[in-house]
Amino acid sequence: MAERIFIGVAWPYADGPLHLGHIAGAYLPSDIFARYHRTKGNKVLMVSGSDMHGTPITIKAEQEGKRPDELATQYHQQFLDSWQKLGISFALFTSTETANHAKVSQDIFLTLLDRGHIYKSTVAQPFCSQCQRFLPDRYIEGTCPYCNCTGCRGDQCDECGKPINPAELIDPHCRLCGATPQFKDTEHFFLKLSAFRDGLLDWVKKQTHWRQNVLNFTMSYLKGGLKDRAITRDIEWGIPLPLDGFEGKRIYVWFEAVIGYLSAAKEWATSNGDEEGWRSFWQGEVKSYYFIGKDNIPFHTIIWPAMLMGYGNLNLPYDVPSNEFLTIEGRKLSTSRNWAVWLPDYLSRYTPDALRYLLSINMPETGDANFSWSEFFRRNNDELVATYGNLVHRVLTFTCRNFDGCVPVPGELDSRSQGLLTKAKDTLGAMDGLLYRCHFKEAIKSAMSLAQETNRYLDEKSPWKAIKQDRQASATALYVAISVLSCLRIALYPFLPFSSQKLHEFLGFKGSVEESGWQLQLPPAGQRLSPPEPLFPKLDEVLIAEETGRLGQVSYQ
Ligand SMILES: [Zn+2]
Ligand SMILES: [Zn+2]
Repeated sequence: MAERIFIGVAWPYADGPLHLGHIAGAYLPSDIFARYHRTKGNKVLMVSGSDMHGTPITIKAEQEGKRPDELATQYHQQFLDSWQKLGISFALFTSTETANHAKVSQDIFLTLLDRGHIYKSTVAQPFCSQCQRFLPDRYIEGTCPYCNCTGCRGDQCDECGKPINPAELIDPHCRLCGATPQFKDTEHFFLKLSAFRDGLLDWVKKQTHWRQNVLNFTMSYLKGGLKDRAITRDIEWGIPLPLDGFEGKRIYVWFEAVIGYLSAAKEWATSNGDEEGWRSFWQGEVKSYYFIGKDNIPFHTIIWPAMLMGYGNLNLPYDVPSNEFLTIEGRKLSTSRNWAVWLPDYLSRYTPDALRYLLSINMPETGDANFSWSEFFRRNNDELVATYGNLVHRVLTFTCRNFDGCVPVPGELDSRSQGLLTKAKDTLGAMDGLLYRCHFKEAIKSAMSLAQETNRYLDEKSPWKAIKQDRQASATALYVAISVLSCLRIALYPFLPFSSQKLHEFLGFKGSVEESGWQLQLPPAGQRLSPPEPLFPKLDEVLIAEETGRLGQVSYQ
């Protein structure tokens, strides 16, 4: 029976371009997972959107002399373009600047308020007397009280990942003018997070299928106790509070951005003409997966689940397969120092599948992974082109030329040929188990090992020579190889959708790979093949030095 799978993917801040860290962390793994499940015939809803509110955006907009909505919309358009070019197959990629999202966020706020999970309190907030304004989150910086790093933001520490209250910062200062802020009383609303601690502990203890890093981080965080969190801010950009007398305040981004998962599902349903269609992905028999980078763990294993518990009648996350970080040429990725490979820049010069391949086979699943241009070129040329692309090309070109452009009729299969077909079938089976458990790196490795084995098979059978003495033996070997290609088109589809669809068409199949299902489908003898083109371009390794030299130099807007 078809399963129902909800996939929420981290909402990128619309204050700058995407880079490879984002892709390896959340967007590629979620897309692999979605494509795999759709090929299995499962019902998938994958959503995300641009996080358009928050102080990073207002700060940058002020610097560039733009309105925050102008700046955020510009990056939102760029994100949409990148998803399309990289093949990230969202059912909906929306933004937090929609009327629907405001409505859903306000409803959750009011419901939690009504049920006593949100309370009002007077608090001292940092106020810069020089700038004559309150300093929410990123307008204030200081030293982290947990890890002692400097330049720690007022909302979350980039170094140790802990959420921060501005009052906890050591040596705080205004980011706009550098002055030391005073604390001034103002009224705010708080989420009573502390009251959810025991419920969360009980729930998290049962999530034994979570990745170890996610489980450990969450447990240690919960054991340290939970502090109530201010939901509102004295700012002008964001979702208004749905209460009279609080016109100068907004619901802050940490509270409303996670609600985007629910509001996006509702928007998706409405746009499909089925207002209530979101329920089948939020209630009852459906598994919800949240793909995020590790800096986002507490928001998805503690804060969002607490909000859902308080609201009631909606599914909690089933799994939060958070990835670790991607380093670039052995160094920590840094957007401010341009130590990053920007996605739009990459996509303007190279193919999507080459990047998807490298980031899949070297995915930061259980530890940080490193991206280097030399590895990118090497893996493209030695693995994608030499192992897989050439295999496809020589089998199909030779068959087209010698067997009237059709899948040849095989003779009897010897044990070697039978064995290879069994391995193909077993590979799909093993990958099914791996992908289901979000073990992406291992899954793509087993597909590539099948391609290697097929090259060895062809070296032994050598149909290119055999055709002169024994046409039937040549036909049989090619038939077996084509059958494995038919398997690889499915197995590699979640990772390499563009080349897999091409291979699907070369092999004479109609429609899309997803419609074929997750199964070994032997192409019928006589099926007409299309003359193939190379699946992947070979890259000139002279460019490695050029690309490495651009790191730290080239900024991207
Ligand atoms: Zn810290
Ligand atoms: Zn100031």
